[in-house]
Amino acid sequence: MEGCINFNPHPPILPERPYTPGMTADHPNLQLLSHPLIAHKLTRARHKDTPSADFRRLLHEISGLMTYEVCRDLPLREISVPTPLEQAAGHELAAPLTLVPILRAGLGLADAILALIPEARVGFIGLSRDEQTIQPVTYYTNLPADLGEGTALLIDPMLASGGSACHAVSILKQHGCDRIRMVVLVAAPEGVRALHEAHPDVTVFAGALDRCLDENSYIRPGLGDAGDRLFGTH
Ligand code: URA
Repeated sequence: MEGCINFNPHPPILPERPYTPGMTADHPNLQLLSHPLIAHKLTRARHKDTPSADFRRLLHEISGLMTYEVCRDLPLREISVPTPLEQAAGHELAAPLTLVPILRAGLGLADAILALIPEARVGFIGLSRDEQTIQPVTYYTNLPADLGEGTALLIDPMLASGGSACHAVSILKQHGCDRIRMVVLVAAPEGVRALHEAHPDVTVFAGALDRCLDENSYIRPGLGDAGDRLFGTH
């Protein structure tokens, strides 16, 4: 790929493989979405020289692609609509869907999902980190009153230690929601395991499962600080 350092100019083309999104052997709560387009765009997003504008666009494109799989088995209800010629049997989503980006990096994935599901509501959870205890602290929540009537998609690009994710899932459950799916771009095994231990009913949909967390709680190889890269802060 252009612009990559130490990149083999003639990399072998990998054999075609059937794309089967699915649970991973080591993580019963993880659906790995390794679609070729997701892998291609995620690799570009990871590159340290990818500017903010391109990074934002890539995350937008990836989250749109992920939405297709995340929503694959949402319940439908049968309805009938008048076409210009006659009544036609059809379907609509049976229950409200709520997108819940964790502020602020979750915002980078929310727009593309909302563009595909414009009927969805958007709730917000703002979390910061207590630097003494290293525990997540809630500084903002704004969730629909009837959150529990449908499915919530909890959105954050990076699932690192899982502390924020576990905390955010607990908030959604306290608001009556028991159908929660988590959408992340890159997951660390530590975070996937922590979420499974605390909330085994929550499935994580991820574009990639990386190697590990480092001593600063960054995902390796990761893509750095997703919020900073999305919003051009440093
Ligand atoms: N959050 C990020 O943005 N990046 C990481 O690697 C871990 C947490």
